[in-house]
Amino acid sequence: MTLSQSFPEPAVIVDIAEHKQTERELKKALEFAEGIITAIPDVLFEVDEDGRYLQVWTRNPELLAHQKEMLLGRTVNDVLAPDQAAIAMEALRAAGKEGVAYGRCICVSLPNGETRWFELSVAKRPSADSATTLLALSRDITERKQAEEAINSVRIQLLSVLQTMPDMVWVKDTDGVYLLCNHAYERLTGKTEADVVGKTDFDLFETERARTFRESDKAAIEAGGILVSEEWVVSRENGQSVLLETRKVPVLAPGGEVAGVLGVSRDVTELNASRQKIHQMAFYDPLTSLPNRSLFNDRLRQMITSAVSRGQRAGVMLIDIDHFKVVNDTMGHPVGDELLCQAAARLNASVRDYDTVARLGGDEFAILLPDISQGDGLGRIANNILEKFRERFLLDGQEVFISCSVGIALYPDDSADANDLVKYADSAMYLAKRSGRSNFRFYSKDLTASAEERMRLESELRRAIERGELELHYQPKVLLTSGAMIGCEALLRWRHPEMGMIPPARFIPVAEDTGLIVELGQWVLREACQTAAEFNADSDSPHKVAVNLSVKQFQSPGLVRSIAEILDETGCRSEWVEIEITESLLLDQKDETLEMLSELRSMGFSIAIDDFGTGYSALNYLARFPIDTLKIDRSFINSVDRRNEELVKAILSIARCLGQNVVAEGVETAEQAAFLAANGCGSAQGFLYSKAVPKAEIIAIRLRSPAGDLNPRERLCG
Ligand code: C2E
Ligand code: CA
Ligand code: CA
Repeated sequence: MTLSQSFPEPAVIVDIAEHKQTERELKKALEFAEGIITAIPDVLFEVDEDGRYLQVWTRNPELLAHQKEMLLGRTVNDVLAPDQAAIAMEALRAAGKEGVAYGRCICVSLPNGETRWFELSVAKRPSADSATTLLALSRDITERKQAEEAINSVRIQLLSVLQTMPDMVWVKDTDGVYLLCNHAYERLTGKTEADVVGKTDFDLFETERARTFRESDKAAIEAGGILVSEEWVVSRENGQSVLLETRKVPVLAPGGEVAGVLGVSRDVTELNASRQKIHQMAFYDPLTSLPNRSLFNDRLRQMITSAVSRGQRAGVMLIDIDHFKVVNDTMGHPVGDELLCQAAARLNASVRDYDTVARLGGDEFAILLPDISQGDGLGRIANNILEKFRERFLLDGQEVFISCSVGIALYPDDSADANDLVKYADSAMYLAKRSGRSNFRFYSKDLTASAEERMRLESELRRAIERGELELHYQPKVLLTSGAMIGCEALLRWRHPEMGMIPPARFIPVAEDTGLIVELGQWVLREACQTAAEFNADSDSPHKVAVNLSVKQFQSPGLVRSIAEILDETGCRSEWVEIEITESLLLDQKDETLEMLSELRSMGFSIAIDDFGTGYSALNYLARFPIDTLKIDRSFINSVDRRNEELVKAILSIARCLGQNVVAEGVETAEQAAFLAANGCGSAQGFLYSKAVPKAEIIAIRLRSPAGDLNPRERLCG
């Protein structure tokens, strides 16, 4: 195809030279136009005002709706779909009127089945004659159109993701004008997208808030990265306070310059609550809400660091509730918990605002006391604590008196080391306990030695049974009227190869603390039953051996079964054994205890209450539990004053009413024996008759006095 074919021939020119010149120029212009047409990939049409194709030029004929020959003479309405033809016609009309028309797009179905998009640029063809024709350049923009559609669909997807997001999302330009925000934004702020877009924070919020928002937007832009902040706001959705964590990040334009800020705000109220809960759980005791051992250790180190830098003294106190175990065992764990809470409150009330009270575990509390000018300041605080504990505790509707023991160590006097200070305060606390409880003690160097001794005792005791270091001694029990020996009490002795004879008062508490008492108790039972079997083998008057059982033994499983096995093994009969228990076992009035005691009773054992009168004054258990014997504690007998005399008489009359036997413990003088006999007490034990002696000796005593007559005037020991 050449352009010369389609343009009309020039008019005849008279001047031939001029004519030649014009012809050359025309040819050049035609070649130039032809060059342009071949250079562009577009299709060029010439059409008349009715849209009839007059001429078509293209180097890509496959872009035509029909072959060129088929097009010529037909109109756009014949060739294009009606809606597309309408667009094309409108472009032609506009160009006819205005001279040019740009930017209309139509889509055309090609013979190969493809549909492609074209952008039309139409211009009125300059012409000398009156007939108006139009030149339409049709550019294939299918790829661009597809890319635009793809972008658009991604945009729609992104927008719907934004809308369903629970997080609040918004974008502002560099002037702080909102470009978009999502539904969550509306939910939290109560402002719709229509309210927000096109506005700045100054139009939407109070000036002060708007200013802080603007500043943090700018900070995010300056930082060039994510800026995170947290803020409490009131949600418009439900009026509740919500903690928002906002992340702001600069939005970049394609050229890399900052175009605005994107913000995402997340409701972290719940997360924050669980974070706090985790912190609380990690560092606070759930029962009393006091700092726990880890937080205490942290603060202890902080206290030392600041004491070093300020040149101050500081104190560490350890506090242990006296006889807490008894309350826990007898009144139940919920009551024990209540006691701990009340104790925590009293400790807090006894110290200064800047002291830290912590619970280290069990019934053990600790206090950090920074900035102590003098040791006596600590003494005053310790006295405060003891004083606060002197007031009665109301537990489960009962009045209970509970004391505590306090140990104190001083920084830097005793040590500059955190662990040492705690260890030393602990030793001091043990000393306070040993010296009668409800007491406080300062640490002194020789205390460590006694704490170490306790640990040594503990480990030695574990081996005492295997090494055969334990012995049972027996203290005779006599009839007060005749002095006849009717039985004896088995009392445990520990003959240590280096430490010598260790009294039970020293090792029984250690055995109870460590649980070793269960094993020791088994050994005692077996030995005592063996002895009882021997004593009764050749005698017609029964001789009872009394055995002490710890509360711990009742709490460990299988007690009754193992007692039955021991009877089997030793050939001992149950009626030759009396089981001594303490009041504390009965105080919780547990059904299991009642069951165990009833079972032992029905097996034939008799049951005695040891140290009667020293425990709690809840006498109702006497009627509920199967008790055969009351053993009056020796503190009532040893110091017989008027008050004690009356108490002893009262105990004797209770026992008479309930049909129980009474044994007076710790009878040391003839006067005491006479008083007891005169008031109807049945039997007694005590140094007046004999101390506890080894098995061989008690056999000798029985042989020397076959009728069991033990005359006080011929005492067997001094
Ligand atoms: P308890 O059961 O009250 O034993 C009586 C204690 O009083 C014994 O001390 C005994 O030697 C002492 N005593 C006896 N007559 C007199 C006296 O006239 N005057 C004075 N001042 N004391 C006298 P012991 O043997 O040192 O035992 C102390 C405690 O150790 C016992 O008190 C008992 O609670 C516990 N115990 C001893 N052996 C065992 C045992 O095998 N198992 C358990 N669970 N506890 C035991
Ligand atoms: Ca006893
Ligand atoms: Ca006793």
